[in-house]
Amino acid sequence: GSSFRQLVAGTDAKVPLANGKYVRGINFDNAATTPPLCAVLSEINQFAPWYASVHRGKGYKSIICSERYEQGREVVREFVNAGQQDVVIFTKNTTESINMLAYALAGERDQVVLTTDMEHLANDMPWRDKFTVDYIGLTKAGRLSLQSLESKLQLHAGKVKLVAVTGASNVTGYINPIAKIARLVHQYGAAIFVDGAQWVPHIAVNMRPPDAAEHIDYLAFSGHKMYAPFGTGVLIGPQAAFAKAVPVYQGGGAVGLVSQATIEWDAPPAKWEAGTPNMMGVLALITAIETLSKLNLNTIHRYEQHLIDYTIDGLRTIPGITLYSIRDGREARVSLVSFSLEGLHHSQVAEILSQQAGIAVRNGLFCAHPYVEKLLRLSAEEIKYYQTHDDKSLPGLVRVSFGLYNTINEIKIFLAILAHIAGHRQHYADKYSYVLAPN
Ligand code: PMP
Repeated sequence: GSSFRQLVAGTDAKVPLANGKYVRGINFDNAATTPPLCAVLSEINQFAPWYASVHRGKGYKSIICSERYEQGREVVREFVNAGQQDVVIFTKNTTESINMLAYALAGERDQVVLTTDMEHLANDMPWRDKFTVDYIGLTKAGRLSLQSLESKLQLHAGKVKLVAVTGASNVTGYINPIAKIARLVHQYGAAIFVDGAQWVPHIAVNMRPPDAAEHIDYLAFSGHKMYAPFGTGVLIGPQAAFAKAVPVYQGGGAVGLVSQATIEWDAPPAKWEAGTPNMMGVLALITAIETLSKLNLNTIHRYEQHLIDYTIDGLRTIPGITLYSIRDGREARVSLVSFSLEGLHHSQVAEILSQQAGIAVRNGLFCAHPYVEKLLRLSAEEIKYYQTHDDKSLPGLVRVSFGLYNTINEIKIFLAILAHIAGHRQHYADKYSYVLAPN
């Protein structure tokens, strides 16, 4: 078993099966959201006597809260080794962080943001209406093409403001070579933003490596994917970059003195945090960060690598499975993999795993529609068809994604039931046909 298991809350909860029996649920959907650490829940409870509004009072509790909240920025800074000129802005999640960054950087409409064909929609859509967006292409294996990156940097030379790329894919688990990408991006005078939602929780991240050419200019991630509760995210970048633009949200907490005719903005990060801050959320986030740091991200990565290697080896022995993350030896990946099973729709596979074995997986397009469309080689006509028809059989994949508390034993159960399903495809296709029925 995993020695990490007892650190996470709720891992023993039972879930019902189709036959009415209850089994211990197996959660293989950690790329969506991880359950909270016990340390996080107990810290929230212990802090309850000091619960007060941040930055709003001279009362003792309010001062304690404000100090803790501001210290939180330093905990985050240290965790990813952000620079002294960087500010840590607390947000609601990665999606909000990236939308705010797009607002902060928006200027001339002909400035280019290069993003990629493998992004979550959060790192694609926010750029579209504020910049000229172009997409860095993929290799045949579905990895980011560094040749494509370089040719796009040349094509838009002098106009590229930012290259926005994911640290790790939520569809294939591929980890991108961020140091190499940063070096290229900086050679062309642009800045790099890394979407750390699937990266920061699973591998040690360093925004300021020894070689300054490889530094990360902007970084975002979500608390709920790293064992803190919902509702906190982070946006990090140079303070000067957040000083100019008018922030998305305006109101108290973001300003010095305001009259009906004039506004004196606070300096970032406060300028981008209007409204009462999520004090308990930030407390939870920094407790999660401190716990993960103590466990050591390298140790966590090694354990999770073992889980995903075992899974991929197992999936390869099951007839009818297609993997969408090929394995070429020691490639860098986080602990998730996507696949399809011939003869069954992805929503049927997910439903069967839940109903027959209490295993929670994710299926569909994982909010990374263009990437999955490319992995499945869908034509523009096919995409148009699905956009214009109310067809429940939308294309997609099945994804399993692990957290530090998952175990080889759970994976064995999963592989066994999946092999059974694969061996009885027709039976299951008939039994679960209702999953695909229109409303
Ligand atoms: N980027 C990636 C790579 C993700 O996997 C996710 C979450 N699925 C997001 C961004 C968005 O994160 P959130 O929903 O917390 O805003």
